[in-house]
Amino acid sequence: MISVEDARAYILKHFAPLEAERVDLVDALGRVLAEDVVSPINVPPHNNSAMDGYAVRADDIRGASAQNPVRLLVVADLAAGYVPNAEVTQGTAIRIMTGAVLPPGADTVVRFEETSEAVNQKATGKGSSAVEILGAPARGANVRLAGEDIRKDQVILEKGTTLRPSEIGLLASIGAGHVAVHRRPRVAILATGDELVAIDEPLTEGKIRNSNEYANAAAVLKAGGVSIRLGIARDNVEDLTRKIRAGIRAGADLFITSAGVSVGDYDIVKDVLNAEGEMHFWQVNMKPGKPLAFGIVGGVPLLGLPGNPVSAIVSFETFARPAILTMLGKTKFARPYVQAILQERAENNAGRRNFIRVHVSRNGNGEYTATTTGEQGSGILSSITRANGLLEMPPDVLEYKRGERVKITMLDYPEE
Ligand code: AMP
Ligand code: MG
Repeated sequence: MISVEDARAYILKHFAPLEAERVDLVDALGRVLAEDVVSPINVPPHNNSAMDGYAVRADDIRGASAQNPVRLLVVADLAAGYVPNAEVTQGTAIRIMTGAVLPPGADTVVRFEETSEAVNQKATGKGSSAVEILGAPARGANVRLAGEDIRKDQVILEKGTTLRPSEIGLLASIGAGHVAVHRRPRVAILATGDELVAIDEPLTEGKIRNSNEYANAAAVLKAGGVSIRLGIARDNVEDLTRKIRAGIRAGADLFITSAGVSVGDYDIVKDVLNAEGEMHFWQVNMKPGKPLAFGIVGGVPLLGLPGNPVSAIVSFETFARPAILTMLGKTKFARPYVQAILQERAENNAGRRNFIRVHVSRNGNGEYTATTTGEQGSGILSSITRANGLLEMPPDVLEYKRGERVKITMLDYPEE
């Protein structure tokens, strides 16, 4: 049986970043740049004041102090967003607001706090004709230089960068209203099984709710994909064939089915997948999630997830999520992990890679601790809702002892 690592490497060979599309800047959040972005301008575009204060010539205020103030004639008042219409010449100053263009002649800004404006609001301030400078900041103090953030023609963000709000802000600062990012993958989702009842239908004798479709659709959305929900296909050749073809026609980049691929199943799903495409394997050496089909159907890579809801989630996490991230242009998909002190013994007698649901928390000493979430049956969906991480036990590791430090892959890294 193929190992988890080999299965993932094999599956990922069938995926590449999707083509680029230009989107509105905010819609690019979480997506990956498909090209280097070069700035057409300096940011800031002009030298400007970093403080509210007085634009002066450093030569004029040398040695100024509270005991030895320097009196300057105020020749103008300059707000942010306006171009100076006056010059700072010897013995003069311009009252200036944060972000306003540094007027010609000035090389330094003295904060209000170091002037008579702060000491005696009435004597000076807006509209006043003179100000006393009570300190001597170094030449260039409180001046932001043109291009100190970004230089014209500089590559500000490289192809492959995932865009967070900070990058979105940076792009806006150079006027990039649209950016080229990799297209979101379209993921077809098809549940299979005669026992399934749709969420809005009455639950009748012998039936269960179709939960996989919803968990899968949410996982696709969270990974950055767009889902094409095909509903439920019944366990017969006609219905399965029709719905698989519908997903292909809808332009899926990845096809995800659930159920019908384990050993005990009637072979209808398997027969239809074999008839509609070329399947490469049907099992992976893991627990939960041993039934896992992969192949190409109608030219589209298809992952046949197990039917059991927990298996489906773990298999999605292990194989579908990296495939979606690859199509989005990402090159890394490992979740963050923590080293946690295991609060109980964990065993692996399956001879397979075991994924154990755990809840990680932090104790009073700031150490992470991990507790299993109880019953690990692959149909116990509630137990994965109590988990925020997975403890992976490789096939050859039979036991982790209580108190042992183990690596936990964090599915969620919630706020504390
Ligand atoms: P199978 O792989 O078809 O043998 O299904 C394994 C288990 O998963 C069975 O108990 C199914 O009833 C259950 N199952 C299959 N599909 C779904 C689904 N869409 N939602 C919830 N449970 C499912
Ligand atoms: Mg079934």
